[in-house]
Parts: sequence; C-alpha cells; structure tokens
Amino acid sequence: AKLEGRNTYRVFEAAMDEAVAERLDLECDLRRAIAENELTLHYQPQVNTGGRDLVGFEALVRWRHPTRGLVPPSVFVPLAEQSGTILSLGEWVLRAACREAATWDRPLKIAVNLSPMQFQQADLADRILAILAETGLPPARLELEITESVIINDMARALGILRRLKSFGISIAMDDFGTGYSSLATLQAFPFDKIKIDRSFVGHVEGSPQAAVIVRAVLSLGRSLGMGVVAEGVETPDQMRFLTDEACDEVQGYLVGKPQPIDVFARYLRGENAE
Ligand code: C2E
Ligand code: CA
Ligand code: CA
Ligand code: CA
Repeated sequence: AKLEGRNTYRVFEAAMDEAVAERLDLECDLRRAIAENELTLHYQPQVNTGGRDLVGFEALVRWRHPTRGLVPPSVFVPLAEQSGTILSLGEWVLRAACREAATWDRPLKIAVNLSPMQFQQADLADRILAILAETGLPPARLELEITESVIINDMARALGILRRLKSFGISIAMDDFGTGYSSLATLQAFPFDKIKIDRSFVGHVEGSPQAAVIVRAVLSLGRSLGMGVVAEGVETPDQMRFLTDEACDEVQGYLVGKPQPIDVFARYLRGENAE
C-alpha cells in the first residue's frame, strides 16, 4: 500500500511537471506568435434590439497555432496576463482592429477589449491615440470594453486614462456587468457610455424570475444614468423577445451572429447595397 501511494504521488508529480512544461511552452510560443502573425481577430456583430440594424462589431482575438489549431482566448489571454505578454498582445489587437475598421465604408463601431494590466502603462491613452492617428480611424468609432477590475486596481490612474480617452470621443463600455464584487461602485466612479449585461443573466431571463428581475433593474439603471445597455450572449428568440419588450438598446450573441472572420460580413460593410 505504501509503494502504491508513492507511485500515485510520482504519477501526480509527473502530471504536474507536464502541465508546467506545457504552460511554459505556450507562453514562449505566444511571444513568437505575435511576431509571426499567428494571431487573428474574429468579429461579432452588435445590433439595435428593435430594428436589428448593425451598429458595430466586437473584436475577439484568436490564435492560429501551427500544431494546436485555433486556440481560444480563454486559454492564452490569462497566460499572456501572467507573463506580461498581454501588453504587446493588447497593442496588436488594437492596431489590427482599428486598421480593419478604417477600411469599412459604413461608420460602424469597433469594440476592443482591454486588459486591466494595460492600464498599468501610464502612457496607455497616448498609445491608443497614436494607433488611431496611424490607422486613420476616427475616435468616435472606437469603443473600449473594460471590466470593473480596471477601476478597482488603481482607481486614480484608471480614471485619469479613461477621462482622457473619453475627451477625444472614444466610448467606454463596462464589460461583464454584474459578475464582479463592486459593479455598482464602478458605475458611480465613471460615466460609462455603455453597460454590457453579462450573459450569465441574459441566458436565464426565460427560466429564472431572478435573472429577469436583475436584467430589468440593469436596464432601468442604465436609463437613469444615461448609459446605453447591451445584452451579451443572446442565444434564443425568447431572450430576444424579452429584451425587445424591455427596450434594451443593443444585443450581441449567437442568435444574431457568432464571432467570425471579417470576410463573412463583407457585404454588410459596404456603403451601397447595405442591408
Ligand atoms: P468577453 O469580452 O465577455 O467576450 C464575449 C465572449 O462571449 C466571447 O468569447 C464570445 O465568443 C462569447 N459569446 C458571444 N455571444 C455568445 C453567445 O450567444 N453564447 C455564448 N455561450 N457565448 C457567446 P471569446 O471570444 O472566447 O472570448 C472570451 C474572453 O476572452 C472575452 O470575454 C474577453 O474577456 C477575452 N478576450 C477576447 N479577446 C480579447 C482581446 O483582444 N483582449 C483581451 N484583453 N481579452 C480578450
Ligand atoms: Ca468584451
Ligand atoms: Ca463580456
Ligand atoms: Ca469576460
């Protein structure tokens, strides 16, 4: 029995080593991936709830790994945050998304996710403004999505950066609303342009009376504070009906469109024959 226990421990230890090695391997690969253009963006449509008019896209990063295939951000964004690579990754995403959006005939918005770590760069606002100047994208077409942790980490610095960006006409959305510890405090701290209700609530508006009450409350909060409200993760016609009845401003989710390469949406980006 003693021997068996030891073997079990060895097996466990070996598995741990493998996991650590795998992580280091991916981390190292990721640095190379940025340099060698293995990252790519998928775009998910955001539409008006009432008319279903396209208002913009959220850019979501993907990694086309040479041997592992398409790696989702849930795997490598946390790694990039631990290793600091998120700074160059974030800048790559911003530049690629702005460059792409600048080519569209229609003045649609492009929403880009920022990691809390990017806000530790004192010159973040200047870096973003430089990318807009370089790509020629008007600031009013850029929307930055941040979570409350950005504001909680270093409130004074984050607010300074966000106010500066907003003063240039860039809009700021609060992502994953309702999932953190102090969502309401965060709303009080900064005049967001938009609130994105997390899909953990949106996904349950049919089955859970609590979820429906919470979504209604967020919509009312948004209206009172003059912030637009976007529902994330809309998957069913019933959810869509609920959000339309409750006058939610915008929706995003698989029902309307999954994140896909921009070519898929080419005909929606042209000025003429749009529809
Ligand atoms: P997020 O910002 O909350 O992005 C929305 C996620 O929900 C996306 O997952 C999207 O594919 C997924 N989604 C959209 N509609 C539906 C739906 O109807 N049903 C379901 N089940 N899911 C839906 P994705 O692309 O895997 O991204 C996951 C997270 O990775 C993002 O969550 C964001 O936190 C992070 N991420 C993605 N791209 C970037 C980036 O460029 N920079 C940073 N810092 N983070 C990123
Ligand atoms: Ca987002
Ligand atoms: Ca979200
Ligand atoms: Ca999220």
